[in-house]
Amino acid sequence: EPTRTTVEPSDDAPNTPAPGEEVVIKLQGVNKWYGQFHVLRDINLNVRKGERVVVCGPSGSGKSTMIRCINRLEEHQKGDIVVNDVTLTNDVKAIEAIRKDVGMVFQSFNLFPHLTVLENLILGPIWVKKTPRKEAIETAMYYLGRVKIPEQANKYPGQLSGGQQQRVAIARSLCMKPSIMLFDEPTSALDPEMIKEVLDVMTELAQEGMTMVCVTHEMGFARSVADTVVFMADGQIVEMNTPKELFANPKEERTKQFLSQII
Ligand code: ADP
Ligand code: MG
Repeated sequence: EPTRTTVEPSDDAPNTPAPGEEVVIKLQGVNKWYGQFHVLRDINLNVRKGERVVVCGPSGSGKSTMIRCINRLEEHQKGDIVVNDVTLTNDVKAIEAIRKDVGMVFQSFNLFPHLTVLENLILGPIWVKKTPRKEAIETAMYYLGRVKIPEQANKYPGQLSGGQQQRVAIARSLCMKPSIMLFDEPTSALDPEMIKEVLDVMTELAQEGMTMVCVTHEMGFARSVADTVVFMADGQIVEMNTPKELFANPKEERTKQFLSQII
């Protein structure tokens, strides 16, 4: 087990929590470079337990890089990232602990094509969590029910629609019982008629109190579900606020420009 020390909120972040609120993700002064390219610049962000954060911003602004740093799919070079009281370093135990706590759903569903839906769902619990097979199957069927496709359990991903595949991907993450879910443009690859079925599943998760960080340009979803909307540009957090405030009164010119293009 990695050493856990309680997360103190990052002082510089504009969404500093009230006393007593538990911060489960803290980014403080986070910087990252790809070679010479400075992709994340002094990122400060606090995410409270149960908070729903939507991240938006132009393509190439560093949104994916930022959330991939949260579960160490990418490595930052400067600053601190603390997730569920574990500081992310090269310590393999810390990385393993975070990966168990933090689920991630990608734009491309990343299911194993040669395994059935059910086999996709039980793989992680059996191999990573050492869950007995029978229990893993029960859990998998429970979450397939939750994403409303229990009847697809024995099909292969290629036999499902994009919306169904993405719901399988969400169920697969949930089978690992994460306390935090990260979404990176989960509906961007979907045909319009399938976007809603995925957003509905995400909305239900949010209503149950899951801590979520979602990169998405679905502003209807942001408006109805997010506690906080973060606007990023050029590797920086330009502005963050409640959706109501950010959409009605964006303060920064770049935010205004971006919103005028997508709303
Ligand atoms: P977003 O998700 O906001 O579109 P990304 O985080 O994917 O932005 O990328 C931010 C910038 O970093 C882009 O300019 C992209 O080309 C660059 N980038 C992303 N991944 C890599 C990589 N592995 N190596 C070099 N540059 C990268
Ligand atoms: Mg991206």
